[in-house]
Amino acid sequence: LIYSMEEKKMKKKPHAVCIPFPAQGHITPMLKLAKLLHSHGFYITFINTEYNHKRLLKSRLPSSSLELSEDFIFETIPDGLPPSDEDGTQDIPSLCESLALNCSSLFKDLLSRLSSPATFIISDVFMGFTSEAAVDLGIPLALFWSASACGLMAYLHYKHLIQKALVPLKDESDVSNGYLETKVEWIAGMKNMRLKDFPTFIRTTDINEIVLNYILNDMERVASASALIINTFNDLERQVLSAMSSMFTFPIYTIGPLCLLARQLPKNPLNSIGSNLWKEDMSCMEWLDGKEASSVVYVNFGSVTVMTNKQLVEFAWGLADSGHDFLWVIRTDLVRGESAVLPQEFMEKIHGRGMLTGWCPQEQVLMHPAIGGFLTHGGWNSTLESICGGVPMLCWPFFAEQQTNCRYMCSEWGIGMEIDNNVEKGEVQRLIKELMVGEKGKEMKKKVVELKEFAVKACEAGGLSCLDMEKLVSDLMSGLD
Ligand code: UDP
Repeated sequence: LIYSMEEKKMKKKPHAVCIPFPAQGHITPMLKLAKLLHSHGFYITFINTEYNHKRLLKSRLPSSSLELSEDFIFETIPDGLPPSDEDGTQDIPSLCESLALNCSSLFKDLLSRLSSPATFIISDVFMGFTSEAAVDLGIPLALFWSASACGLMAYLHYKHLIQKALVPLKDESDVSNGYLETKVEWIAGMKNMRLKDFPTFIRTTDINEIVLNYILNDMERVASASALIINTFNDLERQVLSAMSSMFTFPIYTIGPLCLLARQLPKNPLNSIGSNLWKEDMSCMEWLDGKEASSVVYVNFGSVTVMTNKQLVEFAWGLADSGHDFLWVIRTDLVRGESAVLPQEFMEKIHGRGMLTGWCPQEQVLMHPAIGGFLTHGGWNSTLESICGGVPMLCWPFFAEQQTNCRYMCSEWGIGMEIDNNVEKGEVQRLIKELMVGEKGKEMKKKVVELKEFAVKACEAGGLSCLDMEKLVSDLMSGLD
């Protein structure tokens, strides 16, 4: 057999097949992890759904390309969903149902077609179908959890909530009658939890609900993985992490915040590959340059959150009445089922001090000295990026483990305040003022800066996240069990 030079080069490198859950908050950290592994000498195949891959190609900046390296390859599989709006967020329950139904054999076919065989698979925990292919083809499987350890711990205890008959809910009224205030104090490593702080998919009366079962299945398989990689850092989530490590026999690598660790990537054309599914409006950076330090409220609810136009308008007036400058990202599909409509009077009132846009380079925005506070939905990437920018938060959790993150932000870390789900302009105005100039705001700022310093230390040479990354690399190189 005669191998070309390329094949020879490829064959020597361990080959990691990385497959994120097909949503923004999962693709971004997985791509960072893949780039880091690549910088340590791995051959990478990165698998997106066709739908997302098209969006990445469309939204990329002119200077970037997806074909920059012969040992970092993109592949796609279909997600099985009918074609939809190419600039919108996919419906999560439909996506889960379709992935579970269609993707196992597609993934296996793809693995068998690769010109160099995969040494191991790094799969998002939420891509449960990858287990079958890994077992059938005898490829070790490392799981990547792109969110918080507290979020994962809460999901891992879904089955116990069911066993203890705390869920499913008896009827819909349980969501609002105070039942969700029930304390849950028996989970090792988790303090002060209430049912309402668990990821939202348990708020169902139907034990057969799709997403609930999708997650139960994903959690069940965690125990059979070869490794678990988490985008967090030890100083932030020490208690949960230590309790979690006694639940499993395999190693847990905490390598976050990936947004920080990835800043140390050596210069490589690959670095210009972005992961944003929407095109970034870079003009907000110039706008921020014209603002004073810590004077601007940054508002962004991530890639999946939707709200009613009424809620949008409450936020709008709260922002306007707070008197502070703000940068507000309103995705084209942020308002459920319709286009966002803001009152003319509001637009006039905020002239010169409010900037509205559709998508921004968030990591850069949160590092900008003009940003004084972040009104967020509490997605994990947003939370970490805010910590890394030293920016305190107001949190309006929407779904999934954002409720858990919000609980930790507010009561464990002291770096956030929660906005009630029934958002009301007076409360928004009051909390923004508190965040930007109040005593509580100052305290939160101090704490978030402390956490930022811990994050920086964790990612420096000799820091725990940096060491865990090196350990992950050497364990993968020497072959997982
Ligand atoms: N993001 C961005 N620009 C925006 C909005 C979001 O770059 O205008 C990025 C943000 O930096 C983060 C990700 O999209 O990395 C959102 O992930 P997160 O976990 O915070 O929330 P999700 O979108 O999953 O709800």
